[in-house]
Amino acid sequence: MSTFQAPKGTYDLTPPRSATFLAVRAAIAAPLRDSGYGYIETPGFENVELFARGVGESTDIVTKEMYTLTTKGGDQLALRPEGTASVLRAALEANLHKAGNLPVKLWYSGSYYRYERPQAGRYRHFSQVGAEAIGTEDPILDAELIILADQAYRSLGLRQFRILLNSLGDKECRPVYREALQTFLRDLDLDEETRRRIEINPLRVLDDKRADVQKQLTDAPKLRDYLCDACKAYHEEVRALLTAAGVVYEDDEKLVRGLDYYTRTTFEFVHDGLGSQSAVGGGGRYDGLSEMIGGPELPSVGWALGVDRTVLALEAEGIELDLPYVTSVYAVPLGEEARRVLFGVVTGLRRAGIAADFAFGGRGLKGAMKSANRSGARYALVAGERDLAEGVVQLKDMESGEQSAVPLTEVAAELAKRLG
Ligand code: AMP
Repeated sequence: MSTFQAPKGTYDLTPPRSATFLAVRAAIAAPLRDSGYGYIETPGFENVELFARGVGESTDIVTKEMYTLTTKGGDQLALRPEGTASVLRAALEANLHKAGNLPVKLWYSGSYYRYERPQAGRYRHFSQVGAEAIGTEDPILDAELIILADQAYRSLGLRQFRILLNSLGDKECRPVYREALQTFLRDLDLDEETRRRIEINPLRVLDDKRADVQKQLTDAPKLRDYLCDACKAYHEEVRALLTAAGVVYEDDEKLVRGLDYYTRTTFEFVHDGLGSQSAVGGGGRYDGLSEMIGGPELPSVGWALGVDRTVLALEAEGIELDLPYVTSVYAVPLGEEARRVLFGVVTGLRRAGIAADFAFGGRGLKGAMKSANRSGARYALVAGERDLAEGVVQLKDMESGEQSAVPLTEVAAELAKRLG
């Protein structure tokens, strides 16, 4: 293994591709910020307990994928595998739900860790932007979140994604369905691990990707037929609101998702250009989660969109974001005196809010102009001894190639005018 290799299942974000990641994060956050969601940041690790209770003791995330560690002080911690449990924990700790304004609407952006088998689109360290609306049961809130995710993806130019929608029922109707499903599943020809899953979390058997399992599930009881009237009405309302907003979705009664805490509305955004790791984002309602982690009853809904997979989706659709070059002006000094003078000019430009860079290391004109080109700067400032003696610098338009002498004292104003 090379000394310079990132750990298995991880990768580094380096320029220029890293700029796309920043832009994707900003694009997902923008509609949230415009809709009353406040930014929240929580630690990269939590007590193991939180995820065991919150995400679910029987989920793959907790049983197989969590990075856990014992500190020197004996605390059992886990690197966060997802955002919702942490955000809810933080909101409860800060008593945000008691401040009067429900729902508490929060958005976040950060790194998450799962010990998964790495493949294209599946990493051990990945990044999500998420949103949670805590403390209110209202179908308009579920619809709002789905609409905002749709808006975020569309603002990036993505078109080949689909929204899958389902309702998982509530604490009244889901247990009845669960029992009916268990009775059905126990008669099937399944391996030991799946049999165990039937007893712990039978809904997740429906999510099994294997063809021989799926074949046996054709006649499985459908959750839809077991939804209580309240859940049915709630789900119909969410569907109607999405339709009214012009958001296209597909009903997917097999959608159960890998976390235990979901109730009622669940949804996933899938992208058709990504192969097997097609889920770019997902979420749903989690009315029981607060109580599961020891809090009061706080019906809530949220989602998390994967930044890595969203970038892959952009690449799959051949979308190049219109990212402006960071550097507007690149200074090329010729000689010691010019180095000092031009560095002073660059500092002044930066203070005036004009993005400027400098040819460091005292290189020759040819090499420095190459760097100016690579920087993407719109203008180069070139000055040698003769220019300085005349009190001017040469201002070169890198697009047209045109060059003119500008008095040193007027460079900043001239550039500000030209750059608009
Ligand atoms: P989940 O909490 O599993 O529903 O994940 C929400 C989103 O995070 C997914 O739709 C993916 O876009 C992203 N995601 C989850 N796990 C990974 C992973 N191992 N690697 C990359 N992205 C991931």
